Amino acid sequence: MLAEDMNELFGIYSTDKKLPRKNLISLLQSIFDSASEIECESLCDSLLNRKDVDLSMPQFKIIWDNFLEPVLKPVSAFVIVDVQNDFISGSLALTNCPAQEDGAEVVPVINRLLTSTPFSHVFYTYDWHPRNHISFHSNLKLHKSRLLSPQPDNWESVSMFDRVQFDGKPPLEQTMWPDHCIQGTDGAKLHKELKFIEGGLEIYKGFNHSVDSYSAFWDNGEVSATGLLNELNSRNVTDVYVCGLATDICVNFTATHACKHNFRVILVEDACRGVDTAAIAQTKEKLSDLGALIRTSDTILPLVKGEEIPIKLAMVAADNFRRKFAATLLST
Ligand SMILES: [Zn+2]
Repeated sequence: MLAEDMNELFGIYSTDKKLPRKNLISLLQSIFDSASEIECESLCDSLLNRKDVDLSMPQFKIIWDNFLEPVLKPVSAFVIVDVQNDFISGSLALTNCPAQEDGAEVVPVINRLLTSTPFSHVFYTYDWHPRNHISFHSNLKLHKSRLLSPQPDNWESVSMFDRVQFDGKPPLEQTMWPDHCIQGTDGAKLHKELKFIEGGLEIYKGFNHSVDSYSAFWDNGEVSATGLLNELNSRNVTDVYVCGLATDICVNFTATHACKHNFRVILVEDACRGVDTAAIAQTKEKLSDLGALIRTSDTILPLVKGEEIPIKLAMVAADNFRRKFAATLLST
């Protein structure tokens, strides 16, 4: 659908140069053709705070520019999380974790997507730790004075994979991991068969020795940003496709933050591998509750091209629209 159709649409669905709610619902049904009338009614309620508004052309233009057009012409980012050697064949290989999944299996799936799907932008994230990083069990002695739980004197009782609490603002829960993804080492490199496409952007996380960073947006204390949010916003990205390692940890935190930053989020589930079977299932359930779609790689091409617009993603966009533009709409 082209921008110039705005006038045409308004002409078709308006009465006396006004667009009543029931006509807006019909208009939405014509666009979201797989959605039911009830779904389009709730979409309309998500867009507008009031049910009695007859929209004028200038008001409809606000909806067009800030809801319909971004939904019809999505700008996509494919965020490939931490497909690094240490998580595949190195010190923190997923094959050794409880779910015994193989991180290498995501590589052909991601490569196929990179060659077959016209994502607007592609990001590669790296877990990127200094040697003295706080998440390494081997460094616990170094950081023991910051322990809240257990007490510093009991630091030797902590085993690999235990969770401890460190002092901080805010205090930080931390799982004790083996040394992994140390800056500049082979373990921190992307898997050698992963295709790095021209124009791909790199995001580094976990580089501050005193705080871990599971998310590619923010450290675990949500104090410092990695730059991903700015990169997405400066490119007007609307839809974030997340995949990589590990489903229930860094993919989970990255996708959760993408939802919280009001992007429309699609988890490409067959391009992810995780640590723990139950936690992987919980991650998908939680992301779905936050408004994300859980899809397999063979179903996302029409989404990226804007040819399929699931009502669930339209709802997320409508909620964002209302938060930002409800006041403007009423004063126009
Ligand atoms: Zn790490």
